Amino acid sequence: MNRSSKRDRSSSAKTVLVIEDNPVNMKLVRTVLQIGGHQVIEAMDAETGIQMTNELMPDLILMDIQLPGMDGLEATRVLKKSDDTRHIPVVALTSYAMHGDEKKAQEAGCDGYICKPIDTRTFLGVLEKFLSSAAD
Ligand code: MN
Repeated sequence: MNRSSKRDRSSSAKTVLVIEDNPVNMKLVRTVLQIGGHQVIEAMDAETGIQMTNELMPDLILMDIQLPGMDGLEATRVLKKSDDTRHIPVVALTSYAMHGDEKKAQEAGCDGYICKPIDTRTFLGVLEKFLSSAAD
């Protein structure tokens, strides 16, 4: 535990949009985010995720790369092309086995990436830097 940190969960709570088509991964990510005090909104495909982004303006987007239909890379390109949504950090969720996804994620405009399966012990800490830079 960080002794110097006295975080007020209510004031640091953020809205995180998770775009993920795998229900098991979705449940795990949702659980950890909720433990961190964050509000979670969910989409299971890119088109729905883009729509929810425009309507709800989340503080952070967790983007699965492999999605049915439009993939996460293309969805990130769409969000980063728009003046309305490009400020929202997008963190890619990539399968560990998919070598080279990190570079592809960067090129598509992702602000970071996390390998799946997520490490539940470090997940919130990794997200913190993206959440703290998110505009209010
Ligand atoms: Mn997937």
